[in-house]
Amino acid sequence: MPQYLFSPPPAMSLGIRGSDTRFPINRPFFVGRNYHAHAVEMGRPVDKSVERPFYFTKAPQTLTASGATVAYPPETSNYHFEMEMVVAIGKAGFRVKAEDAHSVIYGYAAGLDMTRRDLQLVARDKGRPWDLGKDVEQSSVCSEIVPMQGVVIDSGAIALELNGQTKQSSNVDKLIWNVREIIADLSLFYHLQPGDLIYTGTPEGVGPVVAGDQITGRVAGVAEVALNIGAPE
Ligand code: MN
Repeated sequence: MPQYLFSPPPAMSLGIRGSDTRFPINRPFFVGRNYHAHAVEMGRPVDKSVERPFYFTKAPQTLTASGATVAYPPETSNYHFEMEMVVAIGKAGFRVKAEDAHSVIYGYAAGLDMTRRDLQLVARDKGRPWDLGKDVEQSSVCSEIVPMQGVVIDSGAIALELNGQTKQSSNVDKLIWNVREIIADLSLFYHLQPGDLIYTGTPEGVGPVVAGDQITGRVAGVAEVALNIGAPE
């Protein structure tokens, strides 16, 4: 055992439905604009015939279990919810062909990509990195992992309610780049590893939260996710 100067950070993990075993997290990846109606609401429509998907990452330490209460984060006045289907990778894969993409899938989850929208848009428009807008502490909210080895989800309702009122309602069949295409493209850049998560993008209807808000969301056939927004620190 190496002698550390201080205790290394704990491994991040998520529960697995129907199991006492936990799913250890390697890297959380996020797909940018991946539903047309959301791309339009962000003022950046996507032309799939000439564009490729793009990605950003968040530190594994941003992972937060569904049902948590998190403080409204600092240095923002426009903290947004984004409801997303999450793919959990269970096998290593590099340059995975789309037709083989199912082979690296362990399961799925329902997630929230919480975002300091004000800072993200400043960064976007100034050509700066997105970290302050996206890599927010406690911003990668995720349900338990639902094992579905080798299953490719191509359709299913995805929805989010804020304080019981529907804000996002779409279908995973509206993904611009589907699960197979994302795994194939992302694995051109990265050696995918067991424990990687891919947040597949949010449909339209994103919006702000305030302290006291309760978010509930779901991906039909997968899971529900919840988050409570607490007072700022
Ligand atoms: Mn997102």
